[in-house]
Amino acid sequence: MISFLDLKKLNAAYASELEEACARVIDSGWYIGGQELSSFEREFADYCGASNCVGVANGLDALTLTLRAWKEMGRLREGDEVIVPANTYIASVLAITENRLVPVLVEPDPATFNLSAAGVRAALTEKTKAVIAVHLYGQLADMPGIMDLAHERDLLVLEDAAQSHGASIDGQKAGAWGHAAGFSFYPGKNLGALGDAGALVTNDAELAKVVRGLGNYGSYKKYENQYQGVNSRLDEIQAAMLKVKLAHLDSEIAARRQVADAYRAGINNASIQLPAVADEQAHVWHLFVVRCERRDELQKFLTEQGVQTLIHYPIPPHKQQAYAAYGSLSLPTTETIHREVLSLPISPVMSDDEIAAVVRAVNAFS
Ligand SMILES: *Cc1c(COP(=O)(O)O)cnc(C)c1O
Repeated sequence: MISFLDLKKLNAAYASELEEACARVIDSGWYIGGQELSSFEREFADYCGASNCVGVANGLDALTLTLRAWKEMGRLREGDEVIVPANTYIASVLAITENRLVPVLVEPDPATFNLSAAGVRAALTEKTKAVIAVHLYGQLADMPGIMDLAHERDLLVLEDAAQSHGASIDGQKAGAWGHAAGFSFYPGKNLGALGDAGALVTNDAELAKVVRGLGNYGSYKKYENQYQGVNSRLDEIQAAMLKVKLAHLDSEIAARRQVADAYRAGINNASIQLPAVADEQAHVWHLFVVRCERRDELQKFLTEQGVQTLIHYPIPPHKQQAYAAYGSLSLPTTETIHREVLSLPISPVMSDDEIAAVVRAVNAFS
């Protein structure tokens, strides 16, 4: 079986570096809020081309605490509307509702599956105060257009960059476009820890400070609490793992691009639609998502051929029981996407034989 993502093989390539980093933390006797975290934050902010990074416990917290911080700062108020793509992973929507803000689910661009500036514009009301631009599959949403609109209408823009570490438009990376960006370092993401981790990246030093306080019980000084905060911290072990992995991120992205190039050159099957690429160099290929009207048959066929695939995602947020109140919304593009998408194996550790076998299997589907 060709696995969708062989995490064991991926991390095994760095085993000695990871073990060394782990031993360094064990020996330090300091496990939360130390040098590993502050140096990772510095390195990741630099990598993104932004001035601040605040490590938190996971990607969902990065999004949730950023919106919460904007409320504490008086930039958002309960009941404000936040535009979000309807076809996103549930976390983007949970961050909004957790803060008692109102998600406005907007259909994506049917070619890229990402939010367009036109889509945002059409959904604006006088209650719209923010936009969550999700960079799905490793490709940025239309950030130049969305930021122009945001400046025109005084909207806050939060990038959900959980799938797009290192993706860029005109050389400007995810995390450097919006007023803030939430990243996830879940093990399967392009930059993955060996456990849960996440971060906020922003050029707004005040926002970074508020998020850091919120994630530390609302406190800056031990036993003095400025906010009703939470506990959401990126620990030293995970920060040390992430420093090792960050040094290899660009070469992993290059390897992912080779897999994507081979698929795009080799897959030639009239019943399968390849992903649309807005800019070759900008895509970091977290996922390689094809479309097929007979998606379930295709998945079954590929499984029989020894190719593991996944569906990102089988049920859109508005069709989830958790959001039953949105269940009657009509979002045909989103619903078609969820019915037709299939993610092929992609990772930096696929062999040429595996890549060729996937291409052969996909082309053999009829
Ligand atoms: C993975 C992911 C998240 C959440 O990240 P966690 O670290 O699992 O909390 C949020 N948004 C998107 C688009 C994701 O893919």
